[in-house]
Amino acid sequence: MNDTRTENGRHLFVVSAPSGAGKSTLTQTVVSRHPDIRLSISCTTRPRRGDERHGREYFFLNQEEFSRMIERGEFLEWAQVHGHYYGTSRAHVEDLMKQGFKVLFDIDVQGAASLKKQYREATLIFIAPPSRAELERRLRERKTDDPAEIKKRLRNALGEIYQAKTYDHVIVNDDLAAAVAQLEAVLLGRRLAKEDNEAILARLLSEFRDDSAGA
Ligand code: ADP
Ligand code: 5GP
Repeated sequence: MNDTRTENGRHLFVVSAPSGAGKSTLTQTVVSRHPDIRLSISCTTRPRRGDERHGREYFFLNQEEFSRMIERGEFLEWAQVHGHYYGTSRAHVEDLMKQGFKVLFDIDVQGAASLKKQYREATLIFIAPPSRAELERRLRERKTDDPAEIKKRLRNALGEIYQAKTYDHVIVNDDLAAAVAQLEAVLLGRRLAKEDNEAILARLLSEFRDDSAGA
């Protein structure tokens, strides 16, 4: 099992950031432009915001349902973030991988570390805000969290930014279009890995060998 996981991990991309840095905006933009990349939909016990829908942004579960999934070992990873539970369903991700999709995970720093242990070839990308003031402004402007929740998220940002050094890439989301281009460059670079083109290289070699044998 480990070998397959190491192999498949090349197609897994984890994006983490302090809340409000813009990772949902970035990941949704990239996924809408690349049909071969899918966003992993997590399970959570946090209440829905705005027009969030079950099965679109998250699978919204109650505490009992979430605990049952933990007991059954149905999560690839799970963590408590900002006082709520979040987890990645193993079956959901394996299904996406079986269908041949590259999978993008919008998960926190604990989830990223846990996934990297299981999939050593996964690429970890950290999204940083340009400044503390701008992060606070974005959280306020988003109008999805009350002042106490915003305070908590800003406090948690320190620990998250500490972990940036364990990531493979850091993208500063200042100008949105530039950050999208950088995220696409990381994803595209990984997708040009020679292992992904093994079949084509093998065919080329055999064509050239046949040609030189006939010459
Ligand atoms: P996260 O998913 O990291 O919590 P969001 O994607 O919800 O963050 O972004 C937080 C807020 O900041 C949203 O209102 C979004 O429209 C805005 N935002 C995202 N990126 C930028 C950017 N580069 N410049 C200005 N505002 C941004
Ligand atoms: P939000 O409540 O703003 O949607 O997400 C809060 C935090 O939980 C974000 O940092 C997000 O990346 C993280 N998160 C979302 N899903 C998961 C998950 O399945 N596992 C982990 N570990 N973190 C998650």
